[in-house]
Amino acid sequence: CGIVAYVGQQEALPIIIKGLKRLEYRGYDSAGVALIDQKGLSIYKKKGKVSELENHLAENGILNSKIGIGHTRWATHGEPNDVNAHPHYSSSERFAMIHNGIIENYEVLKKDLLQKGYKFQSETDTEVFVKFIEDIFTNSNCTLEEALRLALQKVVGAYAIVLINLEEPDTLIAARKGSPLVIGVGEDEYFLASDATPIIEYTNKVIYLDDYEIAVIREGKLQVKTIENIETSPYINQLELEL
Ligand code: GLU
Repeated sequence: CGIVAYVGQQEALPIIIKGLKRLEYRGYDSAGVALIDQKGLSIYKKKGKVSELENHLAENGILNSKIGIGHTRWATHGEPNDVNAHPHYSSSERFAMIHNGIIENYEVLKKDLLQKGYKFQSETDTEVFVKFIEDIFTNSNCTLEEALRLALQKVVGAYAIVLINLEEPDTLIAARKGSPLVIGVGEDEYFLASDATPIIEYTNKVIYLDDYEIAVIREGKLQVKTIENIETSPYINQLELEL
């Protein structure tokens, strides 16, 4: 339902929480974040309001993190509860993903992954999606973005997704098809969100990702490619909104 992600020089968590609150008008049943700090890649998620997630976060000593992804979920596959809330880990817990939309062929993909020995904690199509990417990643000896690109050629449905990867703590990977995703371009920082509302207080420069595009933000640089691996030059819109 709602997506907010950040990578840059500021502390990520307050930006993500504030952004998720700005998206509350869309409605949701649970909320969660994934952050990378000195302790590694951690996920915190809770059924209910963003304020309940904040209470849960306050109970855990979170160190300063400059990168993170956040999600408010509107359940389509699996009841609203803590486990089904996003983000969802890969089996290795080396990366995690948030997802808006529906993966229509998730049952076929899940059956195949179960046969390969994958275990599932949640009932979501999203956990199938992230483990499908992981399966390609571990078997193809390729980068995570390459694995995502190959996965997207087989996935049927609608998605806006953001991946965070412990191996690359300065990198966010995002993609969309049929579900909106906006990139905010700041000074040495980037924002990702399902609409511009969480972004406009930080920057008026936004890029609307197109269907079948993959955005990689790495070391402060943005690169956009199609799922056919063709680089595109995204148009930067200058929003003229009153703050
Ligand atoms: N289909 C996913 C789920 O049920 C994502 C729902 C959403 O867009 O929030 O977990």
